[in-house]
Amino acid sequence: MTKILSVSALKKAYGSTVAVDGISFDVNPNEIVGLLGPNGAGKTTTINIVLGVLEPDSGRIFIQGLELATRRSEAITHTNFAAVYAPMPGNLTLFQNLSIFGRLYGVKGLSKRIDELLKQFNLLAFRDKKCGLLSSGEQTRVSLAKALINLPHLLLLDEPTASLDPATAREVRANIREFAVQGMGGVLWTSHNMYEVEDVCDRVLFLSHGKILLEGNPKTLPAEHGKKTLEELFITVAREPLTLEKG
Ligand code: ATP
Repeated sequence: MTKILSVSALKKAYGSTVAVDGISFDVNPNEIVGLLGPNGAGKTTTINIVLGVLEPDSGRIFIQGLELATRRSEAITHTNFAAVYAPMPGNLTLFQNLSIFGRLYGVKGLSKRIDELLKQFNLLAFRDKKCGLLSSGEQTRVSLAKALINLPHLLLLDEPTASLDPATAREVRANIREFAVQGMGGVLWTSHNMYEVEDVCDRVLFLSHGKILLEGNPKTLPAEHGKKTLEELFITVAREPLTLEKG
């Protein structure tokens, strides 16, 4: 079975700051992998490298068996991304934005696909509104609709529910779960919300100072390390990684 994403020995430093320090991991089809870690752990740097917008210092990345360094355009055809720090251009309407991204990805039956996404993310009322006038939660939903426009095989989500109210965040999690379960896609998801991670992720990677310190099922990992909750485990890994016990 071809892995959706395969990362090996990835390294990236900014001057003397080592942001990503030799990490290796995979994302399998139908899997949602949570990339967790305290502020500055290297999550966004990792996502930007996988997206091909940042060059690593060393290491290899394969997207469905295609090496990013040598077959970039093929590799990223079936990749997409959403993050609060990357909103749609604000002077264009929602429909115009989705049309442009759809055409960039060469989406077939684009009008139908846009209609489906507007319904899926409860955005029909904003179809002809400029994106810059939408609330932050509405803009987040727009970014997610854009992220699914090309039916990606690899979906990268950097804190996708950060500005959403609890009910909308739950709907979005259900949408992304459905995406992962139905097709062949895999998802790499960063979040600081441990409740959400436990709810949505099949597997988590704990990153600290650019290294993966722990990996496992978010539902069983805390007990394996003598902790009651994922949040408790997260705080221990972030503050005192060496004290971690293996239960
Ligand atoms: P957060 O949870 O706060 O979003 P993160 O895990 O996404 O954090 P990164 O943004 O990947 O962390 O940053 C990793 C490290 O690299 C940090 O120490 C950060 O200060 C540093 N860093 C990130 N981008 C740059 C840059 N362009 N130039 C210099 N240093 C950078």
